[in-house]
Amino acid sequence: MHIKKQRLLTPGPTPLLPAALHAMMGSDIHHRTEDFRTLYKQVLSDLKDVLGTSHDVLVLVASGSGGLEAATQNFFSPGDEVLVCSAGKFGERWVEIMKAWGMKATVLTAPYGDAVQPEAVEQALARNPNLKGVFVQASETSTGMQHDVKAMGLAVKKTNALFVVDAITGIGTMPLDIEGWGLDVVVGGSQKAFMIPPGLAFVAISPKAWAAADTAKAPRFYFDLKKERKNAVSGESAWTPNTALLLAFAEALKYIKSIGMDKVVENAQLLARATREAMQALGLELFSTSPGSSVTAVRPPAGMDSGVIIKEFRNRFNAIITNGQGSMKGQIFRLAHLGYFDFHDLFAIVAELELILAANGHAVRFGSGVAAVQRVYAEVALPKLELALS
Ligand SMILES: *Cc1c(COP(=O)(O)O)cnc(C)c1O
Repeated sequence: MHIKKQRLLTPGPTPLLPAALHAMMGSDIHHRTEDFRTLYKQVLSDLKDVLGTSHDVLVLVASGSGGLEAATQNFFSPGDEVLVCSAGKFGERWVEIMKAWGMKATVLTAPYGDAVQPEAVEQALARNPNLKGVFVQASETSTGMQHDVKAMGLAVKKTNALFVVDAITGIGTMPLDIEGWGLDVVVGGSQKAFMIPPGLAFVAISPKAWAAADTAKAPRFYFDLKKERKNAVSGESAWTPNTALLLAFAEALKYIKSIGMDKVVENAQLLARATREAMQALGLELFSTSPGSSVTAVRPPAGMDSGVIIKEFRNRFNAIITNGQGSMKGQIFRLAHLGYFDFHDLFAIVAELELILAANGHAVRFGSGVAAVQRVYAEVALPKLELALS
């Protein structure tokens, strides 16, 4: 009642891994020393392992959007014709970046909550052989939707266009076969599934993308990926790196490797599934028609502003969850599953949501949402008991 631990339960920044947090205190190292080079090489190599790719992966000092910008300016030229799949606030960010870099974007939009269909991408590519790139979100964090990047990637792979994927919340929440599916440029960020604070972006780059970089004319300086690649070979970053975050990153990658990336993805998928079943048990509607596993967007009961739920989580339980962005504000609340989230967190969130709904005049059978989460847990982790219960 009176002691309320603060809990950060948003889809970025996400809860921090304690070992990573503690590691940040060792940041009194210089970045042009052997100690640093050992750390940096380890991070780059573990990151490739975790992403399951032999492509170059480079780390930048920036939030995720810096990675999106780098993915644009290094591989394209002003005036290039590109295709953008936009189905939420982050899809709209791609459109703004295209505009800033003077690229001619054709935009395939889907209403908030829906996905752009791979067939539409395929048709657009067939209509316009000049397309130099296709830009998409693997997971659209603003709506809780995930795109079929596999089908899209296989379609783009057959063309000369590059497939550029904002996988900032896709990584660690859905399978991503970077090489098999033809994901040419994949962007990630530290504060999502990687369990560390904001401030690092990273980019995985295919040979097809590097070839495009040779003729791309957009100006670049700070985010010059070729320069970054040259330095990375000797274990250094082009500019002064964020040593504190790299120390944290090394710990987080070690932790993720000890679990296995496939298990980290399964963790998010199970939490997402349990959340969907709990919301259904509580009579709440999901916002997305193609829900992903990074975050679940939920509509509040009819007549209730979702801001009430967010405020109640904060005031009663000191728990920070997110509202909808832009025009979705007040229409949805979002429950995150990516990174350092576990079933313990979800049990508490659902139990608290039941109390919050009841406190605001919504009829709730206490325990019905929690029981849905228990059923999913039991089915996966207590198979014998599941038989007895059914
Ligand atoms: C968080 C996020 C970003 C990056 O946002 P930053 O605030 O720049 O880190 C981009 N795309 C998606 C889908 C995200 O979830």
